[in-house]
Amino acid sequence: MSTTDQKPMQFEPGAPATAEGTIPLCVPEIRGNEWEYIKECLDTNWVSSVGAFVDRFERELVDYVGAKYAVATCNGTAALHIALLVAGIQSEDEVLVSTLTFISPANAIRYVGAWPVFIDAEPDYWQMDPQKVIDFLEEECHWTNGELHNKTTGRRVKAILPVHILGHPVDMDPIIEVAKKYNLVVIEDATESLGAKYKGWMVGTLGDIACFSFNGNKIITTGGGGMIVTDNERWAEKARYLTTQAKDDPLEYVHNEIGYNYRLTNVQAAMGVAQLEQLDDYIAAKRRIAEGYGDAFGNMAGITPMQEADWAFSIFWMYTALINEENFGLDSRALLKSLQKERIQTRPLWQPLHISPAHVGSLSYQCDVAERLNRQALSLPCSVGLTENQQTRVERIVRQLCSQSTNAF
Ligand SMILES: *Cc1c(COP(=O)(O)O)cnc(C)c1O
Repeated sequence: MSTTDQKPMQFEPGAPATAEGTIPLCVPEIRGNEWEYIKECLDTNWVSSVGAFVDRFERELVDYVGAKYAVATCNGTAALHIALLVAGIQSEDEVLVSTLTFISPANAIRYVGAWPVFIDAEPDYWQMDPQKVIDFLEEECHWTNGELHNKTTGRRVKAILPVHILGHPVDMDPIIEVAKKYNLVVIEDATESLGAKYKGWMVGTLGDIACFSFNGNKIITTGGGGMIVTDNERWAEKARYLTTQAKDDPLEYVHNEIGYNYRLTNVQAAMGVAQLEQLDDYIAAKRRIAEGYGDAFGNMAGITPMQEADWAFSIFWMYTALINEENFGLDSRALLKSLQKERIQTRPLWQPLHISPAHVGSLSYQCDVAERLNRQALSLPCSVGLTENQQTRVERIVRQLCSQSTNAF
């Protein structure tokens, strides 16, 4: 039995306490130097938004990813907001973004007064569909005086914001190629995929600027936190300036611009440094879990296990399978309820943003695949600390529910 079996039960941040024996969806793993480094902050009184751990976390993360500059932020959404600002996205610009994602990047686009254009997912790995990006730009936009404009709205199209969802990279080459052609900025939302690789390159180094998140359920966590990563020195400096209230004279408190209080604290960064030390182990655990589910469900007609492209190294951050209602006998939501009765936490993917009430008035382009994925997808327990016994229980009960419902017909 592994030592994690003896650990006190951990709970998803914000979720109500669950009974003994519950298998949570995805909870943090805290077993390294977190206590020691945080204690160091408390002992030395360096608890706020400057400190050695902030510098160290930025440097170590950017070294891990293989980019030049990093600016820590209080969360991933703030990182996206600032990335859009430093990349020059302006009010009434349009930004192409994945429709099948957590809502954060679309909200950040609205924070700067720009408009999202929601792009469908491809059916294999569920990422932003590069062919639909190209089709939209080629067919729905026109190029005049060195700028691309949406034919329908007349607005300037300024950036593409691919989101590497669930730990798997987006197929970036075609997106980068078309972005070059039309002089568009590429902003990567890499918040769910730290450590994932595209054709051997780390996500976060593929576009012009990238964002990470260290929220409670991400692969590594600082409780809440984020990071902007870029090779553009000017953008990095501007990001640092804007995240620290745009203070131009720290003695006299002179500000030439409106800034934001978006910095990460030293205490949080201390946790981040400790978590980063364990990232490779966490990724190995996530990949082991994915392999296990793949083996267990691979020959079942009712379930499509999560795939990894041959050009990808996925971190399988949130293990998700597709439930084919006809063959399985239950749809994804009925399966969720049945698993809940067995004290197994699962969750559907996000409502696609092109149908989100929060984003009515935004445009979308051919988003039918995302709607099907939303109906079929179910995320299964995949905490780094998931034990073999727990995973076997999930697999056994899913198999039972499948055959039960088939027998019932
Ligand atoms: C988690 C996440 C973010 C950032 O979330 P924060 O909670 O603000 O750190 C952004 N985009 C996606 C796709 C995410 O999953």
